[in-house]
Amino acid sequence: MPHYESPILVLIDVTPSGAAAPSTAQLIGAAAQLGTPVALVAAPADSAKDAVDSAVAAGAQLVLTTDVDDGPIAVPIVDAMQAAYRTVQPDAVLISNSIAGRDVAGRLAVREHLALSVDAVDVARDDEGIVAHHSVYGGAYLTHSAPTFGTPVITVRQGTIDTRAKSAPEARVEKLTVEPSGAAVAVGTVVEALQIASSRPELRGARVVVSGGRGLGSKENFSLVEDLADELNAAIGASRAAVDAGFIPFPHQVGQTGVSVSPQLYVAIGISGAIQHRAGMQTAKTIVAINKDPGSPIFDVADFGIVGDLFTVVPQVVDALRGRKK
Ligand SMILES: Cc1cc2nc3c(=O)[nH]c(=O)nc-3n(C[C@H](O)[C@H](O)[C@H](O)COP(=O)(O)OP(=O)(O)OC[C@H]3O[C@@H](n4cnc5c(N)ncnc54)[C@H](O)[C@@H]3O)c2cc1C
Repeated sequence: MPHYESPILVLIDVTPSGAAAPSTAQLIGAAAQLGTPVALVAAPADSAKDAVDSAVAAGAQLVLTTDVDDGPIAVPIVDAMQAAYRTVQPDAVLISNSIAGRDVAGRLAVREHLALSVDAVDVARDDEGIVAHHSVYGGAYLTHSAPTFGTPVITVRQGTIDTRAKSAPEARVEKLTVEPSGAAVAVGTVVEALQIASSRPELRGARVVVSGGRGLGSKENFSLVEDLADELNAAIGASRAAVDAGFIPFPHQVGQTGVSVSPQLYVAIGISGAIQHRAGMQTAKTIVAINKDPGSPIFDVADFGIVGDLFTVVPQVVDALRGRKK
């Protein structure tokens, strides 16, 4: 393998169809902030050409590829990451802070005795090395973490880093040889792996999120959130109160015990803005809140607030957006 200055190893998340996940450009952009992006595409044989092309387009200078079986078990990907780590000897490893990404990151860090730093919202280099930045306690504090020795394995929250690397058409693509570790997979039986089909963007990593809360009042009324999401081509989120009331299933819950999102635009409808909810959305670039109570804490973090009855305001916003499309 040729020598690369300060290589940064990035794991590309590959979707079941063989495409690179939307996190790819951000991870490679973040790697370019620190050094030379080197990507690993570990996917079923012959299904990952698109992912390799995406990694090159996003600016990876070297793409390592290896065949792994499709499935919910992380061990083959950890084996591949371990082989890539030993080959590349990177200054840092960047992995998406997805469920699968956190699984791989933790296992890799344990195997190689590396520092693990999770849910970073930015990465940087200072005089002593690589630093990860984290938004904690509902966005109330920005903290920094750095390893006392060795290479950090950092998981990056989707949508938080805007830096993009230049495309690297001259990038090398090389096959990586991986010896299966035979490590225990710690899963008894996989009963069924469900793919949820939706025409809407995936919540994690979406550029626009429209979320509804208890203020919607019923499952039927939650269609107002869907109407606005349709107009904005947005993913749908919800507060825990809305999920607990059965307005929408749990995978849509945003917050401390749900999904963390960092979209360009977050619209909160009938959500009070409890700290546990803000923990999952406060890093959004622009926050719009619609709430009838001007004292709601959501207005403390909103860039734009509309104080009013959502049943009046939301249909007007939807009509206005539809009008602009005519
Ligand atoms: C350990 C723990 C973890 C938690 N994790 C999460 C989490 O991950 N995500 C999360 O969201 N919560 C979480 N919670 C719950 C959290 O504390 C709040 O209870 C929850 O976020 C409240 O949801 P809400 O804002 O929809 O409801 P409410 O707090 O009841 O707010 C409803 C809002 O709707 C407004 N409203 C009502 N009617 C209208 C109307 N017609 N027009 C306009 N506005 C209207 C009200 O003014 C009010 O502000 C957690 C709690 C705990 C203890």
